[in-house]
Amino acid sequence: MKIICIGRNYVDHIHELQNEIPAHPVVFMKPNTALLKDNKPFFHPEWSSDIHYETELVIKISKQGKYIQEKFAHKYYEEIGLGIDFTARDLQNHQKAKGLPWEIAKAFDSSAVIGTFIPKQGLSDPIHFHLLLNGKKVQEGSSQLMMYSFDKIISYVSQFFTLQLGDLIYTGTPAGVGKITIGDTLEGFIENQKIFDCSIK
Ligand code: MG
Repeated sequence: MKIICIGRNYVDHIHELQNEIPAHPVVFMKPNTALLKDNKPFFHPEWSSDIHYETELVIKISKQGKYIQEKFAHKYYEEIGLGIDFTARDLQNHQKAKGLPWEIAKAFDSSAVIGTFIPKQGLSDPIHFHLLLNGKKVQEGSSQLMMYSFDKIISYVSQFFTLQLGDLIYTGTPAGVGKITIGDTLEGFIENQKIFDCSIK
């Protein structure tokens, strides 16, 4: 399986990082070694002093497809989840400044927290989600604030990459990203349902 991530999909987060609004979805990938499942802890690596949480709705692909038209994209996923796209912001800023690839800042081991999935029929539209950091709400988002919808994202990325059963697509984060510190606890919710928790060790 592969992990496809969309960057800069919420205007408020683009402004928070002083990035430009992209003309197309910003796409990057993580390897399967990035997955952190089953509420396992995240062990903070020593090579970054500024790892940020980015809470994101996650599409789980249920059918293989390429060049999927937007109007058919809904047939390619049955479940939606929530996860964290951990980002080493210090390394990312360095890579961006030099025009270098992002992988070391984005695709490192355990950088893709994933929780449980919910059948899409059971979800409200739009989907509301939030993140608690040590019990306090730090991020709040809604699928209606995404510049590129689930179906638009699937249509766009499937032009380049064949989507396969079990692939995950992280759909970008709203504002409120911030640094993690050893001892922190992160809890992600879709509506009022807890989807994951992750302690930082
Ligand atoms: Mg992200």
